[in-house]
Amino acid sequence: MSKFVPTSFAALSMMLAAPVQANELRADLEADMPDLMELYRDLHANPELSFEEHETAAKLAKRMRDLGFEVTEGVGKTGVVSVMKNGEGPTVLLRADMDALPVVEQTGLPFASKVTATPASGVTTGVMHACGHDTHMTGFIGAAQLLVDHKDKWQGTLVMILQPAEEAGGGARAMLADGLYTRFPKPNYALAFHDAAADKPAGTIGISPGYALANVDSVNITVKGIGGHGAYPHTTKDPIVLASAIVMRLQTLVSREMSPLDPGVVTVGSFLAGAKHNIISDEAKLQLTVRSYSDANRKLLLDGIARIARGEAIAAGLSDDLMPVVEVQEDFTPATFNDPDLAEQLVARFGDRFGEDRVGTLPPVMGGEDFSEYRRADPDNIKSAIFWISGTPQSMLDALEKDGTPLPSLHSPFWAPDAEKVIATGAEALASAAIDLMPRGGA
Ligand SMILES: [Zn+2]
Ligand SMILES: [Zn+2]
Repeated sequence: MSKFVPTSFAALSMMLAAPVQANELRADLEADMPDLMELYRDLHANPELSFEEHETAAKLAKRMRDLGFEVTEGVGKTGVVSVMKNGEGPTVLLRADMDALPVVEQTGLPFASKVTATPASGVTTGVMHACGHDTHMTGFIGAAQLLVDHKDKWQGTLVMILQPAEEAGGGARAMLADGLYTRFPKPNYALAFHDAAADKPAGTIGISPGYALANVDSVNITVKGIGGHGAYPHTTKDPIVLASAIVMRLQTLVSREMSPLDPGVVTVGSFLAGAKHNIISDEAKLQLTVRSYSDANRKLLLDGIARIARGEAIAAGLSDDLMPVVEVQEDFTPATFNDPDLAEQLVARFGDRFGEDRVGTLPPVMGGEDFSEYRRADPDNIKSAIFWISGTPQSMLDALEKDGTPLPSLHSPFWAPDAEKVIATGAEALASAAIDLMPRGGA
């Protein structure tokens, strides 16, 4: 299918040259919305944690099968792959993520989750779709229905995937490792949307051309020392003083080693050491989140962390066997890159469809999304884009304007998006973009 990959902006514009009339999809979508909202409330009330999305996957796999897709379950543990071949043409992948978060819901919604679970931490917790993945899944089903209803408008192969474990990281990688691109058609394009707690009316679309979300690494540093009595520090090697020096020098990585034009974050989110006022402990533990966009800057930060930890330990006079242990967790999330031409085209086409006041470009953020993996698996041949859809209810925007009441963020127990607007916008945006990328007669 590689012959369908456009190599230039002009080629891409040509491929996108056959717009779908807005009202055709929208009329059908309006008829579908009551059923979709029922599905949304059901998904919201029954959230499942990462890699535990068994009921969710089964429920949605059945819907996709009923729509006529060839459906395979259990791809990357709980992932679902639905394929529909509809003549010669490009392959377009649409993705929704399925997992919820260990959050006790406090929205007060009539269909609020009462589900509890005991994750690997061993601590029983509430479970909530606090990131809005329930809106993603419902919009995805809405898009599938529109694409099946309007099969006469596109030709090519549609691959619609329901991904586990976005929150834990590793869901996309698990599906790819389980043969997403070898057992099923490999896409020319990959698209997804994410709801956003933005200061814009619900249903507003934003896209970041180029880097959209960051590389996310978790790093653990175990700082060693020699413990003893707090009154005799000269007989010890104090790991708290050493770890503090490490924390302070880490701040120079972004400010003094990376280009001032490149974004980066080194945050020490946890610093644990000691048990009592008058005891110098023999260990301190640091947990860091490290964020960047390019592979080169990621390496610069991770190498720098290891060098600074060791350098400060040497400066503190620690022997070789007491050097800090720096561990970079394997399950890192790579940066998400939106193909700039595809992103600009989506902005233009969504602008025509939804109105220019509802669509725009956005600066990138330092959050992470493993949607990045779908392009990264073959960056020369796959163009991908993820876009944001604001879910902020008007009442929250009014309260923000009136007395500065802050908006809840994603992952907040109070995040109750205007789901109807997110779902309707997401379904229409995904379906229309897929049709634009696989126009009938465009092969
Ligand atoms: Zn999330
Ligand atoms: Zn999310």
